[in-house]
Amino acid sequence: MLICDTHCDTLYKLAVHPEEALDVTMERLKAGGVSLQTLALYVGGDPRPEPVRKLFSSMLRQFDRLKAAGWLQVDDPREAEDGKVKVMLSIEGCEIFGDSLEAIAEWRQRGVRMAAITWNYVNALGTPAKVNATDGLTPFGRQAVREMVRLGIAPDTSHLNERGFYDILEMGIAPVASHSCCRALCGPARNLTDDQLKTLFQAGGYVGLNFYPWFLSDDGQCTLDTLADHLLHMLELGGEGMVGFGSDFDGIEVKVPGLEHPGDLPALFETLERRGITGSVLEGVAGRNLLKYFDRF
Ligand SMILES: [Zn+2]
Repeated sequence: MLICDTHCDTLYKLAVHPEEALDVTMERLKAGGVSLQTLALYVGGDPRPEPVRKLFSSMLRQFDRLKAAGWLQVDDPREAEDGKVKVMLSIEGCEIFGDSLEAIAEWRQRGVRMAAITWNYVNALGTPAKVNATDGLTPFGRQAVREMVRLGIAPDTSHLNERGFYDILEMGIAPVASHSCCRALCGPARNLTDDQLKTLFQAGGYVGLNFYPWFLSDDGQCTLDTLADHLLHMLELGGEGMVGFGSDFDGIEVKVPGLEHPGDLPALFETLERRGITGSVLEGVAGRNLLKYFDRF
């Protein structure tokens, strides 16, 4: 079975906290049967241009190191193959673009295929859910989103606020939400409301379910069944063919018991099957749905 994950923060951890143990290792990706792991270039703790530039250089050096050790980068997610581990780059927080459309092409050339408009800072493009729900994309944000789509970078609405989310949809663009959960089941503002999910699915977008306990349950108490609850809720809202996983591994300090790292994914599949997510629906959730999104994109 082809397995895809649309978000982890492994490059950031390698660049900034090399002393910390990694969730995502090649051994665990193999053990979990992961075919495509997206590695995020994350804006980091200081959104000013110079610290962001330095951090991105440092994360790219780590990425080069992984590639030198045999990690295979794909430029198109549809290069994913069952039985082989491949990786793809994304951006989390478009501060690195500055206010330059030309910068977007440079990142596309490096293999970036998804870019989260914001992390938790207001930037030149838009406003995160953490700040407010109402400030939409800036004029530059709209231009940047159009340029991303033109070049083949999927706009990623995880962390973006509601107004910015709907601005992208109203431009006729179906975004991804690379690592997001259901607001109806757990309260944080970065989780997607039922209306957001329905609108996204009607447009043909994609959601990768985040594995962070505090985005899955208001008291942080989760089991693998809690993940199934969120996926079933998305499926009820029309998400069949458009949902999958965005683990957030290496970016989350607590885990759902039994889902500590990619090597634990088989246990999640067992739970999903027990909850009735089986056959082609399960295969879609595991990975095929992401490839179908890029077919539509
Ligand atoms: Zn994130």
